[in-house]
Amino acid sequence: MIWITFFLAGLLLGSFANVCIIRIPKDEDIFLSRSKCFSCRKNIPWFNNIPILSYIHLRGRSDCCDKKISLQYLIIEIFMGCLLLLTGAIFALPQAITISLVFFIVTLIIVIDYYHRIIFDVMNYILIISGVLISLIYPELNPENISFKNSILTGLIGFGLFFSLKTLFKKIKGIDALGMGDVYLIAGLGVWLGFEKFLYILSISSIIGIFYYLLVDKKSENFEIPYGSALGISFIILILSKKLIQQVITLL
Ligand SMILES: [Zn+2]
Repeated sequence: MIWITFFLAGLLLGSFANVCIIRIPKDEDIFLSRSKCFSCRKNIPWFNNIPILSYIHLRGRSDCCDKKISLQYLIIEIFMGCLLLLTGAIFALPQAITISLVFFIVTLIIVIDYYHRIIFDVMNYILIISGVLISLIYPELNPENISFKNSILTGLIGFGLFFSLKTLFKKIKGIDALGMGDVYLIAGLGVWLGFEKFLYILSISSIIGIFYYLLVDKKSENFEIPYGSALGISFIILILSKKLIQQVITLL
């Protein structure tokens, strides 16, 4: 039962994530204004705005002007649904709720950085402040159950390391290899992960970055690896993997 609740909550959060992903880069309000058609700007009635079902019912085309709706909406809804289903299945309830909210922010960062190569400060600040406060007040809510010292030190080490790399690259090569967004993001993920997993996130995100570099056409101007996306994906993998492997082993 709890699985289904988490799956449905994931679909709704995925739907809200779509709103944020479209509107935040355009500096539009995410709470008050109603959903409008991406093409003709007509208001979308609620019954055409139900996660997954509306997309299937409308056969992927808008009801008002019959334009193709991006598959991205559906993919993000299903992704969040499955992510929260998994989270609800392998973590105890209070932890699962906390992790779901953190995953929501991280998913926004992954998708927005992928499309726009921007990481918004407000999302990084939410990660940093919530991570530090939880390790101070109620560490059991953190999936890694790390101490306040571990949390804050890992955040500082991440910040220091990436900031030095950024400054060095700028001095020696004259390029912006890392943005300030990446620097704050590694601090934000570090305060949640603690030092041990911090070392893993560096390796996993680098491997994802290398794959991206090898697979994507680099001829386009301004080629840039969306490193924030790579960090976000690595974070989700790291949070889920240990528990998931433990559960699989107990099933065998
Ligand atoms: Zn329309």
